Amino acid sequence: MIPYGRHEVVADDVASVTKALESDFLTTGPRVDEFEEALGSVVGGAGTVAVSSGTAALHTAYAAAGVGPGDDVVTSPLTFVATASAAIFCGGTVTFADVDDDTLTLDPDAVAAAVTPQTRVVAAIDYAGQPADLEQLLEVARRAEALLVEDASHALGATYRGQPVGSIADLTTFSFHPVKTVTTAEGGAVSSNDPHLLDRCRAFRSHGIVRDEARLVDKDEGPWHQEVHSLGLNYRMPDVLAALGTSQLRRLGAYVDRRRVLVARYRALLADVEDVRCLVERPDREAAWHLFPVRVPGVRRRATFEHLRAQGVGVQVHYLPVHWHPYFREMGYQRGSCPVAEAAYGELISLPLYPTLSEADQDRVVTILAEALRP
Ligand SMILES: *Cc1c(COP(=O)(O)O)cnc(C)c1O
Repeated sequence: MIPYGRHEVVADDVASVTKALESDFLTTGPRVDEFEEALGSVVGGAGTVAVSSGTAALHTAYAAAGVGPGDDVVTSPLTFVATASAAIFCGGTVTFADVDDDTLTLDPDAVAAAVTPQTRVVAAIDYAGQPADLEQLLEVARRAEALLVEDASHALGATYRGQPVGSIADLTTFSFHPVKTVTTAEGGAVSSNDPHLLDRCRAFRSHGIVRDEARLVDKDEGPWHQEVHSLGLNYRMPDVLAALGTSQLRRLGAYVDRRRVLVARYRALLADVEDVRCLVERPDREAAWHLFPVRVPGVRRRATFEHLRAQGVGVQVHYLPVHWHPYFREMGYQRGSCPVAEAAYGELISLPLYPTLSEADQDRVVTILAEALRP
């Protein structure tokens, strides 16, 4: 089976992890700082906070943004469920706004129509690895006095108008799950231009515990003393996994380049295949292409998907609109509320895309897809 995504672990990664395992720190040691620094040098901004997953990163970002009871988060339904569920865990509500038909990223006009005085956060998703319309979304968020959170789980290494993803939105989140561009097995991170928001992320990652003497409320408790100033969780990334991440990050540029080459190749190969539509690439941004979703006629999507799977091509569908999941349906969300995203869902198939995908395998995927669609 050719999978839809796959990680790569090389000898350098194994050596880095082994060194971490033999050190004094399995967690919360110098390798987390190293990883945060290396990530910061890629994504820019005032700093990064490594956490235990992309889901933890979203929960941390929303908590740092102050999402709580009475607050609403406006986001896209065409995302992994965590973009929405993390906001609900903060006690907030979620409003789904529709996407742009060309890029399947959040439509700024739909967001503008969806914001209310309760909107605390607009959460964009860089669908498939192409940055959303960040400038317009920032403008809409500013007008609503909300923060822009960017779920860049797909877009590490992408740029928007020459600026790296991670230094544009108020808070940007990343995932390092093995299918993502670089991996720490499980892991995630938040980046921001705002040191105050980063402090709030660090506090949330580790129980809201304060050790800094200057900030203690009860200064005379004793030399052992540390105190809790806010609620948080254990969302720390272990040193062992940070070591893997730092090693993987050295290949980020090569990985993104290879993904871009494969995407250009897919586009060329598919140009002659009738009934296949690719995402539109905006000229002012360089996508990192985590996924390569294509759209086929809705009436033939299922048979096409099944044919590909039967022929050993591990295709996927990203995503069932979040508000169609039974949990959300029972909360009262209605089908039909985001017609562009819902129509796209009915047509989407993600083709295999990962740096070690061979050109021969890619040719095979296209041949099998074309075969499935032949009238
Ligand atoms: C992968 C992903 C997440 C969740 O990341 P985990 O590391 O699996 O928790 C969130 N949002 C999007 C868009 C993702 O692709």
